[in-house]
Amino acid sequence: MGERTDELVAPAHWRTVDLMSDLHLHASDRATQAAWLAHLRGDPAADALFILGDLFEVWVGDDVLAHADTPERAFVRECVQALRRCAPRTAVYFMAGNRDFLLGSAALEAAGMHGLNDPTVLVFGGRRWLLSHGDALCLADTDYLAFRAEVRGPAWQAAFLARPLAEREAIAGGLRARSEARKRELGHDPALWADVDADAARAALRTAQATTLIHGHTHRPGDHGLGGGFDRQVLSDWDLQAQPPRAEVLRLTAAGAQRLPLAPGA
Ligand code: MN
Repeated sequence: MGERTDELVAPAHWRTVDLMSDLHLHASDRATQAAWLAHLRGDPAADALFILGDLFEVWVGDDVLAHADTPERAFVRECVQALRRCAPRTAVYFMAGNRDFLLGSAALEAAGMHGLNDPTVLVFGGRRWLLSHGDALCLADTDYLAFRAEVRGPAWQAAFLARPLAEREAIAGGLRARSEARKRELGHDPALWADVDADAARAALRTAQATTLIHGHTHRPGDHGLGGGFDRQVLSDWDLQAQPPRAEVLRLTAAGAQRLPLAPGA
């Protein structure tokens, strides 16, 4: 975290801001994609949509959009086209997560999205909201943070993106299998995964002169107090194939934050 935090001041006409993260969209889960598409088509639309990372289960490079010759590639293109269709009525902002950090400027442009650095302060409704994916604040996850430092560096990214697309897809598939195996080993209960470090969260909030941190990544949705007048609004992950299904948007208005359950039966 730097000394100055990026800041986005909402235009005066914004009344409704939606935030979501951790949809982990992939071609083998059409149910989650369908719920997401239905929300994008929703009426009335929010003035702005903030996607705080891990929209996609994996992103291997923007050049995937030049191809639609496999179900996975066609799926990604379909999602990007859906974002582009909602951009004229809803301003869409994207912050990278640990799965889709390679989503670059070409894909942002194709999707009609504005990129955000992690973290960014959103000034809206007379308040300062600190937005983050959340992974960089999970200080106990030291193995992951070492991996993150490597893959977020320009040298690793240049070398990775220089590989043929099919090879990158195969590597990503291997990483995903490893991560799924680790989850099985730890158990699917997110309570066993590393959580955001409270001291680091409060420090980031102080630097940003904000009181509420909004983040995803930990899959522990809810309003978590941080003490000292600070709190965390944690976004839900989406999984329409889970029992019970999960899908939720955090909606900000002048009245504050409200959770919109979007899964059927929720
Ligand atoms: Mn994540």
